[in-house]
Amino acid sequence: MKKTIFLFFCLFTLNLISFGQAQKKFTHLPVFDIHVHTMKVNPNWGAPMCPWFLSNMPGTDPNLPMVDITNVDCVDPLLPAKSDEEMQDEVIKRIHDFNMTMVAFGDAEILYNWVNAAPPGRIIPGIGLNKASELTVEAFRDSLSNGFYKVMAEVAPQYEGLSPSDMSLDPYFAIAEEFGIPVGIHMGTGGNGQANTYQPSYRASMGNPFLLEDLLARHPKLKIWVMHAGYPMLEEMIALMGANAYVYLDISGFIWSYPLDEIHYYIKRLVQAGFGKRIIYGTDFMIWPELFETSMRVIESAQYLSEDQKRDILFNNAVRFFNMDKSMFDWPKN
Ligand SMILES: [Zn+2]
Repeated sequence: MKKTIFLFFCLFTLNLISFGQAQKKFTHLPVFDIHVHTMKVNPNWGAPMCPWFLSNMPGTDPNLPMVDITNVDCVDPLLPAKSDEEMQDEVIKRIHDFNMTMVAFGDAEILYNWVNAAPPGRIIPGIGLNKASELTVEAFRDSLSNGFYKVMAEVAPQYEGLSPSDMSLDPYFAIAEEFGIPVGIHMGTGGNGQANTYQPSYRASMGNPFLLEDLLARHPKLKIWVMHAGYPMLEEMIALMGANAYVYLDISGFIWSYPLDEIHYYIKRLVQAGFGKRIIYGTDFMIWPELFETSMRVIESAQYLSEDQKRDILFNNAVRFFNMDKSMFDWPKN
């Protein structure tokens, strides 16, 4: 259970795919989820989950058992899919129901299955890494060369205690820049006690958005988005985006795990600071299908956002970030 919970902070351009031709009619305004994990179902650590469970961050003592922050004491916990088939069916159903397009990454077999089962172009595949030892530079280049992967994500050096500007990762970013592939980098969020438990190498300081500056300076054509909005480093995030006009962010993960008031405060400040056109919706979906609806409602219910601002976050900003053509999405159509 804990592993499940902690993994959510997790891991993981487009010559775009031709959308359109084979699609069924959609009735929902289009939604773009830029942060979806493809995971194999593991019955040993799949468990129900209460959204916003990090509303309580209790401390503990190194000589005592770790505090269990997982919380299923809510009226309606989200239930995990019980099999790979159920997971895939639930994801594909939501692509149809919510007219959804998603960037997905993680387990390659699951990813291929989803791409084959989804309407054309609705799942945009990504490939990521956290450190150089996971994948050689040559293998990474080969992976991008075959054209299947359109995005480099999720890249999460923070879990290894590395800065995203660490030179060991530079050759990979250089390839992404060469191919014109956008890169999603995990910055910030780590739950409660991450460094004490599953990720001893995790460093909160390596999630500082300012650590992206050297990388961006070395690769002026590289397009990145900051995953998890660099939470909780709001001021640094605002400063970074002010200095770097190509940088976008996603609001995945923290929108369903941290306290709701905190989430709305953070998003409101980003909009108030002028970045409403660079906030991209994302879930950090892992194993709970209803997480899609739960996360979407956070934006749909935000009283400080106009309807236009909600549409920007839920869809338009991603389309602009990926240089896609809105006409590829067939809403409304009856
Ligand atoms: Zn992440």
